[in-house]
Amino acid sequence: MPHPALVHHTETQFRKSVVALSPDAWTAVGYAASTQHMIEGAASVTIIDTSESTGAARNVLAAFRQHTDKPVGRILYTHSHRDHISGATVFAEGRDIPIFAAAGFHSDLVGQDGAAIAPTAALNRRTQAQFGFGLTPEERISLGCGPGERPMDGMGAGHLPPTELIAADRDIDLDGVPARLILAPGETADHMAVWLPEAKVLFPGDNWYHAFPNLYAIRGTPYRDFQAWADSLELLAGLGAEVLAPGHTRPVFGADKVREVLDTTRAAILHVMRHTAEGMNAGLSLDDIAAGIALPPELADKPWLGEFYGKAAWAARAFAVGTLGWYDGNPTHLGTLSSQRRAEHMAALAGGPDDLRAAAEQTDDLQWRLELCDALIALGQPAEAMKAAALETLAEAEINATARNTYLWHARRLRAAEGAP
Ligand SMILES: [Zn+2]
Repeated sequence: MPHPALVHHTETQFRKSVVALSPDAWTAVGYAASTQHMIEGAASVTIIDTSESTGAARNVLAAFRQHTDKPVGRILYTHSHRDHISGATVFAEGRDIPIFAAAGFHSDLVGQDGAAIAPTAALNRRTQAQFGFGLTPEERISLGCGPGERPMDGMGAGHLPPTELIAADRDIDLDGVPARLILAPGETADHMAVWLPEAKVLFPGDNWYHAFPNLYAIRGTPYRDFQAWADSLELLAGLGAEVLAPGHTRPVFGADKVREVLDTTRAAILHVMRHTAEGMNAGLSLDDIAAGIALPPELADKPWLGEFYGKAAWAARAFAVGTLGWYDGNPTHLGTLSSQRRAEHMAALAGGPDDLRAAAEQTDDLQWRLELCDALIALGQPAEAMKAAALETLAEAEINATARNTYLWHARRLRAAEGAP
């Protein structure tokens, strides 16, 4: 049984619907991994973000057409992640229309930006695991940022490059609707928020969604600047928005509520930074820093800081490595034991590989069982089925969708490797 909190998050946040933000602005939720937004002007509409596929974009455009059939006059990209920029051709409908994005618009997909030597295959494998490619929608439940079930046709096929790059905050006329484009580095460095001062509607991109912020994506991302993200949340909170329409999950209504979700998310980021820096200053290991992190009670009880997408322990590791690199200050870690050598030592301590296997079978600490399974596998001993079963048990206990998907994705491969049922 999947964790009920993850099921609840999925049912409440990703139920397919077009939500009115104001008399002339709407958000499409649950149609794709990300959300898409429409602002109606005098004779045209503006689209903010375009989904990850032409299949999803077609469904969104059809849903928006229920409100107005004015043509799309321009597109705004909040940032360069593929789940926001890959359905533009559907909205442009073959016309040349302006597409605005931040001047730093640039993919953070390591190795898919043209670099010749890069861990591209690793990124692809980890991306498949994080998003649960090949799992059934029932197994997957959720992407953490979007519904587990969504159209896959035309994935990545409808991208159009930006035609106008914004180098500084700028007011813009959206066919009669005044708006401000605000550079707001956060989940990516190239984030551009969109602010409608008259309707007091704010589109923060992925700098806020109803889940703990993905300060590190386990598919593999370069360091995300924690301080810049926190600063952008402070800036956005200061606008006095009455409606917040994020790049994932449902909109938030009410000035006090918007302020609260932005302020507490900023506080959560600062908490991770402080906890990690203090641990590093005290000479703690990364394991101890990650194992010891917990949000303070006044943040832990906020539903929008539930770890459905990002995870505080992963964020702590990312902050440590992103600031001082992989070395944790313990000289033991300057040397290296290969996985096999370490496993040989562990087996010797246990009394031999059979005793190591018995220990793995008997422990009720699933994390420890995984580590012992890895040691057995490093010794060439079959432990794939035991590891798969442990991963499946951990997956069912997870509220984090990307951890769940990754556990189940690897469990399936391990079972295939060992030929086990
Ligand atoms: Zn996104």
